[in-house]
Amino acid sequence: MSVKKESILSSPVTSLKGVGSKVAEKLARINIRTVQDVLFHLPLRYQDRTRILPAGSLQSGMEAVIEVQVDHAEIAFGRRRMLLVHVSDGTGALLLRFFHFSAAQKNNLKSGTRLRCFGEARQGKHLLEMIHPEYSVLQNESQPVEDTLTAIYPVTEGLHQLSLRKISEQSLQTAAEIKDWLPDNILQSLNLPSLREALQIVHRPSPEVELSRLLEGTHPAQQRLAFEELLAHQLSLIKLREKASLNPAVPLQGDGKLRSQFLTNLPFDLTAAQQRVVLEIECDSNQSFPMMRLVQGDVGSGKTVVAALACLQAIEMQQQAALMAPTEILAEQHFKNFSAWFGKLGINVAWLSGKQKAAERREMLAKIIAGEMMMVVGTHALFQNEVTFNNLAMIVIDEQHRFGVHQRLALQEKGKKINLFSHQLIMTATPIPRTLAQTAYADLDLSVIDEFPPGRQPVTTVAMPNSKRAEVISRVTHACENGEQCYWVCTLVEESDALQCEAAENTYATLQAAFPQLNIGLVHGRMKSQEKEKTMQDFKNNKINLLVATTVIEVGVDVPNASLMIIENAERLGLSQLHQLRGRVGRGSKKSACVLMYQPPLSENGKKRIQAMRETNDGFRIAQIDLELRGPGELLGTKQTGILQFRIADLARDKALIPDVVKAAKIIMKEHPQIVNPLIERWLGEKIEYQRV
Ligand code: ADP
Ligand code: MG
Repeated sequence: MSVKKESILSSPVTSLKGVGSKVAEKLARINIRTVQDVLFHLPLRYQDRTRILPAGSLQSGMEAVIEVQVDHAEIAFGRRRMLLVHVSDGTGALLLRFFHFSAAQKNNLKSGTRLRCFGEARQGKHLLEMIHPEYSVLQNESQPVEDTLTAIYPVTEGLHQLSLRKISEQSLQTAAEIKDWLPDNILQSLNLPSLREALQIVHRPSPEVELSRLLEGTHPAQQRLAFEELLAHQLSLIKLREKASLNPAVPLQGDGKLRSQFLTNLPFDLTAAQQRVVLEIECDSNQSFPMMRLVQGDVGSGKTVVAALACLQAIEMQQQAALMAPTEILAEQHFKNFSAWFGKLGINVAWLSGKQKAAERREMLAKIIAGEMMMVVGTHALFQNEVTFNNLAMIVIDEQHRFGVHQRLALQEKGKKINLFSHQLIMTATPIPRTLAQTAYADLDLSVIDEFPPGRQPVTTVAMPNSKRAEVISRVTHACENGEQCYWVCTLVEESDALQCEAAENTYATLQAAFPQLNIGLVHGRMKSQEKEKTMQDFKNNKINLLVATTVIEVGVDVPNASLMIIENAERLGLSQLHQLRGRVGRGSKKSACVLMYQPPLSENGKKRIQAMRETNDGFRIAQIDLELRGPGELLGTKQTGILQFRIADLARDKALIPDVVKAAKIIMKEHPQIVNPLIERWLGEKIEYQRV
């Protein structure tokens, strides 16, 4: 029985009275295809048509129902022909104004006719007016008023409120039978209404409802819907994960010899946090199903050695490992590090990049497929079809937030060649607030490197208006003359690469002319990679004092001796990006500083970002503030990942629900497995496969 009712909910909107293919087409434009979609299409706001107000009590801007009698109706011929209807109810008088009308309409509005009108009162020249009010002629005295508030829905061109209201009315009747999958004890413990009640309240609230909460989206009825939606997403991720754990992978239980030799060669000991994460990775990849682990560690927390150890686990088993980075500069740096580290262990490291010469690339590809190269480092060039591995068992993706969905999926396929899946390790320096991570990445295991290598000092951050540029320049030269190394980051609001490079070139030329005694370098995205690499190497070897750069240096670049960073146009950058950039300094034991240059006046948001940068060096704190300022979509790069597209839930607004969602999901998986699929079906439908990212 209930299954049948559910199927009514999932039937197309055309099953509703008055919905033909034309209307269905319009509804589809706002993503309404089924009866259930109508129910989940929530009102934007509400009108109160439950009371009749005295005309004399109206004020400009009020929407109200009035009952009046026509005193006089006339057609006025001004610039536009219009119908003017003077009405009153004994408490006050009002003018109704119509631009579109028929002769019959006017004839029906004879003096003495009683009307019920709804509209917004506006101050006219002499009287309050209603322009094109909805009205009906009163025949008998006892025409009822509405008993609930009237929902105003988001619509699209050619789709009228009234028809949407009728459609939702019918859908609500169907919803009387809607199945509440959530167990009573969960609902009761959260103090949330049933699904049916929630829908009723949201679409047809009683006049006594707490309207302000309803308008904010924080009314328990809306929270009930958001909760169920978040729960369905959570369950779908858990299911995906269960499914993924059925895939076979090589358990990486090597003898540990390469790993211990690698650790012995390092000039430092791992931090406790690094050790813990390495252990977590080892436990996962010892299994015969693929690891899917996300490592979060703030900039400079030392993720690279952790990645290297994961790769060595594969290599100890005579399996290949691949490390991918989002930019050429970062990939090259990893290649250098890995070549140096693994060279000492007798392991060949291959290099793949889009800018590589064809002959060199061919040679690399041949060696990779032959299994001569056990470690492969590169940019997204690693994803290309022509790249075939011999036996890829470990994939490390650095800074995954910069990779698109398809790239990541393509890579997973790489390991599948011989029907074994690769273990996957994803590393990100963009810490995602815990609540968000729990929802967005419920299909991944999470590790956090929450400790910095010893001796690090927090970076002191100051803000300077552009008018103090001379001061900033003198600070830079002073620092350089004292043997410090500095970055000067040129940014532009336009995402145009060319313009950014031009700005960097200009700044470079100006600084060079002004300070012939300094060694100044330049890197930007449009330079040849050899040139770029040479400059980076010179900077690393302290042959360059001042490095002028575009935001290409944002991710991962590691020069521990650099201790001062100037960021131009800081007010135009997002918080996370600023934090990433700043993370290039303060990587050694030197006291470091960051100067944020800006053009006053700052926007409210710009002020808050710069304030946050000055207040804290904590990546998690910054991510939290970023979440509040920008919302989760931006933070996670929703456009890329396709996740977190909710109909009703809003992670920023509903984040307080997440701990309960996570808890409920666990209980349901264990105690009520039969409701998992119906819930996922209800909220995600065909989108389930899309979630697989
Ligand atoms: P990120 O997490 O930003 O990728 P890196 O892996 O680049 O950080 O590490 C930053 C710097 O810290 C590097 O110079 C690295 O060699 C160094 N480092 C990493 N781990 C430690 C440690 N346990 N002790 C001291 N220095 C370390
Ligand atoms: Mg890094």
